[in-house]
Amino acid sequence: MRIGIGYDVHKLVEGRDLIIGGVKIPYEKGLLGHSDADVLTHAIMDSILGALALGDIGKHFPDTDVNYKNADSIKLLKHVNELIKQKNYEISNLDSIIIAQKPKMAGYIDDMRKIIANVLDTDIENISIKATTTEKLGFEGRLEGISSKCVCMLRKIN
Ligand code: ZN
Repeated sequence: MRIGIGYDVHKLVEGRDLIIGGVKIPYEKGLLGHSDADVLTHAIMDSILGALALGDIGKHFPDTDVNYKNADSIKLLKHVNELIKQKNYEISNLDSIIIAQKPKMAGYIDDMRKIIANVLDTDIENISIKATTTEKLGFEGRLEGISSKCVCMLRKIN
């Protein structure tokens, strides 16, 4: 078994779509980034890369590379899943948190779990996604940005 941790932050700005866990969430603002800025998917990818000791998403998908401009992060996650297979591992489980004061995430969590589980070739029961506010404290609480954390466990395939 191998364990990995991931953390990501993106700024909330006007004129961008809000995409989290592959789900487009209706909101007045979206996350700013070189790719689609899917903060949850980025934290998940970083936790997997961490478990494999393969560096981070900045190394695999540099933000200086035009190929990744407005990139669909779910496609990047597919690539990360290939790396898991190459190393002869599979997802045991992952547990993640979206930290956002607004908007409410509850209605989108199960769709996110389905999308992530599908891309990672695993059961939805192995994908935990939670959401919390920060009681209006910090940058998330001031609606300046959204962050996400993830821990994942990979299991060796015999
Ligand atoms: Zn990111």
